[in-house]
Amino acid sequence: MLVDAHCHLGDAAFDQDRDAALARARAAGVGHVVVIGATLDEAARALQLARATPGLSATAGVHPHEARSWSPDAERRLRELLADPVMVAVGETGLDYHYDHSPREAQRRAFEAQLGIAAELGKPVVVHARDADDDVAAVLRAAPRGAVVLHSFSSGTPVFDAGMDVAA
Ligand SMILES: [Zn+2]
Repeated sequence: MLVDAHCHLGDAAFDQDRDAALARARAAGVGHVVVIGATLDEAARALQLARATPGLSATAGVHPHEARSWSPDAERRLRELLADPVMVAVGETGLDYHYDHSPREAQRRAFEAQLGIAAELGKPVVVHARDADDDVAAVLRAAPRGAVVLHSFSSGTPVFDAGMDVAA
């Protein structure tokens, strides 16, 4: 059985043909899909979807693009979402210095906080890294032990090694 570990099926782009897209995936042998929540709103939709549909699970996190929205209130909402058993991971989170949609300091703060929450809850973290390899590696090396998914991986060995170390 194939598992799609990273699908933005909750995105509004799928509002017209979500069921058809899922049916095509199943027909192609995909038995399970992890629906990514990259914002708290997307995560709430992912949660609904995963609760309603067999063969789906979901994640909840704050993407580096959205890191400027990280706050005590955002953390409280994230923890509420993650309390549901269909939530299998935290993320996606990470650092994106290519687009810099949020200030880098805010990205690091949100990334570190979500790594801490994941370790506390015993859930893996879905990590997004773009043009920020040194800082992603440094943050991972300082993070509590836990499982990480380095998704859409195009980084070099420092990030790979840091990911392996944090999971060790
Ligand atoms: Zn993604």
